[in-house]
Amino acid sequence: MEYTVRHLLKEGDRVTGCVAYTRVDGDFHAFSAKSVILATGGITRCWSVCSGSWEYTGDGHALALWAGAELRDMEFVQFHPTGMVWPPSVRGILVTEGVRGEGGRLTNSEGDRFMFNYVPEMFAGDHAETIEESDQWVEEVVSGKLATVRRPPELLTRDVVAKAINSEVKAGRGSPHGGAFLDISHRGEEAILKKLPSMHHQFKELAGVDISKEPMEVGPTAHYVMGGVRVNAETQESNVPGLFACGEVASGLHGANRLGGNSLSDLITFGKRAGEHAAKRAEDLAQPGIEDTQVQSAIEIMLAPLNREGGENPGLIYDEMRDMMQAKVGIIRTKEEMTEAMADLLAFNKRQEACFPGSSRKYNSGWHQALDLKNMVDVSTAATLAALTREESRGGHTRDDFPGEIEAWGKILNIIYMEDGEIKIRQEDVEPMREDLSEAITEVKTMIAERAAEQAGGGN
Ligand SMILES: Cc1cc2nc3c(=O)[nH]c(=O)nc-3n(C[C@H](O)[C@H](O)[C@H](O)COP(=O)(O)OP(=O)(O)OC[C@H]3O[C@@H](n4cnc5c(N)ncnc54)[C@H](O)[C@@H]3O)c2cc1C
Repeated sequence: MEYTVRHLLKEGDRVTGCVAYTRVDGDFHAFSAKSVILATGGITRCWSVCSGSWEYTGDGHALALWAGAELRDMEFVQFHPTGMVWPPSVRGILVTEGVRGEGGRLTNSEGDRFMFNYVPEMFAGDHAETIEESDQWVEEVVSGKLATVRRPPELLTRDVVAKAINSEVKAGRGSPHGGAFLDISHRGEEAILKKLPSMHHQFKELAGVDISKEPMEVGPTAHYVMGGVRVNAETQESNVPGLFACGEVASGLHGANRLGGNSLSDLITFGKRAGEHAAKRAEDLAQPGIEDTQVQSAIEIMLAPLNREGGENPGLIYDEMRDMMQAKVGIIRTKEEMTEAMADLLAFNKRQEACFPGSSRKYNSGWHQALDLKNMVDVSTAATLAALTREESRGGHTRDDFPGEIEAWGKILNIIYMEDGEIKIRQEDVEPMREDLSEAITEVKTMIAERAAEQAGGGN
């Protein structure tokens, strides 16, 4: 990232630019802007096992919140079922869904293909019920034919597979390093090198495992946040005039659980909309001025960690906070653990305010981490508060103490906002879907049902 944005400038209610610094030499820059679009990606670095890069520290989510924008759906964090689990240095790195799409079989330490035992009621009858049916589906699909049988249960939605692996590990049937086995070796070396070359390379280089000969060890990894800045679906503008958001930092498109592949189409479609509307918004505006007091105050906040006389290493706080989120606000959540997490986050906030990364602005990754900690505390607080409030299980949010969906919650949004420096929550009704969209969905559903009925009738 060329410039790291740390603060959004405002004139009255309106966003008018930002203050940023360069990571290499710690130079500060202020930008005047008629519109600002946040496209900063996700927050999954707040969990210790995650697939996101070091940049996934929730900067955009925090910048928006601090500037007065609302966040929604923050409880909905997707744990992808298959991340690497071993060795520790690569824990969380993604193992593509393509492995299961190509026929990858998930087994536990007893050799059972356990996914047959985890088909939720809402998907009953949709997936293969025997290993033979699963194998036939794979054979048909990989040879380019239309499937005449049902897909393997390994291809259930991400939340279902992630929770199944979690349950197997908890029941003492996990793989040696706390995951499950994912085996594609039956497809043979030639097919694997042709269809999954990067996975073959990744495991060989990072784990010393040849996936054409032996199974991988995989486990859930924090992968995507469905929640984010609340935007107008047509324009991508937030409730703060001039502030737009698109991509993973925005919310509302994927509901409680994103389907694989849909992020990239989201980026293209809604990124274009954000750009067009931000440009339109800017058309008749004069270039805003940059108010020096706002810039100086932002710089002061950024320099604060460097000016302390001693303090804790920010890296320690970073690691401990991520471990805490993994343990207490992970795949399966309870009121007790999340209440503890809220108290822990208050303590982490105090610790980050007193940490000391050394005094240099140049090449000082500890300083970047010290600054990131503030976003991470606030974003983790937003996710935990929303998760604690939603007393049901839905999509990427699973409560052990409230299993199952509750219809009334399906019509409610958790809105996170900041007031007097405090992160707060309120509920609002879900907006009704536009009629033409609702009709389009019904049409597609009918088409799918008709096609399924035709195939079932075909009997081969
Ligand atoms: C390993 C992996 C595989 C995936 N595979 C798929 C897939 O196959 N299909 C699919 O649909 N989705 C996939 N996803 C999800 C998808 O890639 C992401 O949701 C998507 O890339 C997010 O795009 P974005 O533009 O919102 O953010 P990003 O692509 O993350 O870009 C954010 C940018 O903002 C910059 N940035 C962040 N903070 C700041 C700041 N403070 N100042 C300045 N710049 C900042 C970052 O440097 C980065 O360049 C995958 C995700 C991961 C992690």
